[in-house]
Amino acid sequence: MYWDWTYLLMLPGLILGLWSQARVKSAYAKYGKVLSRSGMSAAEVARDLLEKGAPGVTVKRVAGELTDHFDPRDDTLALSDGVFASSSVAAIGIAAHEAGHAMQKNDDYAPMKLRTAIAPVVSIGSNLSWPIFIIGIIFSFQPLVFAGILVFSLAVLFSLITLPVEFDASRRALRALESGGYLDAGELKGAKSVLTAAALTYLASFVSMVLQLLRLLLIANSSRRRD
Ligand SMILES: [Zn+2]
Repeated sequence: MYWDWTYLLMLPGLILGLWSQARVKSAYAKYGKVLSRSGMSAAEVARDLLEKGAPGVTVKRVAGELTDHFDPRDDTLALSDGVFASSSVAAIGIAAHEAGHAMQKNDDYAPMKLRTAIAPVVSIGSNLSWPIFIIGIIFSFQPLVFAGILVFSLAVLFSLITLPVEFDASRRALRALESGGYLDAGELKGAKSVLTAAALTYLASFVSMVLQLLRLLLIANSSRRRD
């Protein structure tokens, strides 16, 4: 087998991933303690933003840390325990970011639509791509090797489309927080650094996906040469 050195390709993605997650944690810890002067909770800010930018979306509370998300299937915006009732700059930034996703859906933002459309295929496919690929390699059956790579490429594409969707949601969030006067200039900087750190985790995951794809291609190529 030719697995050995291609493992090294996983390292940059892994390091980048750990580094960006550490940055999110530290930004969240820092700005989670800075309370906004408006005194509004993140949930209140989110409801306000949704009323203007994405009517019909409901805000609910979910368990866990940083489990905040917008679900386009049932138009709910879920805020985690630490964010929901908090009036910290970090919490308001996160809530506004999720509201940004709801606004994207409301505006028919194209990358968001595309991402939602391929999501079901990707979630099934990304778990199957490696098993399909490995079975193909073991039995030297090229169509299966190719299918594994193809399915994995879809997951890479998904991770690529995620980038503009995430960056745009943060842009919408910061714009809305500023124009609505929810945060002042200093507070906005704090919210921005939390959202920038979060965006880096998506970038890190894209980089690691590309490297994994490269690894699949290298393994496939060396196994073909052996045949
Ligand atoms: Zn997001």
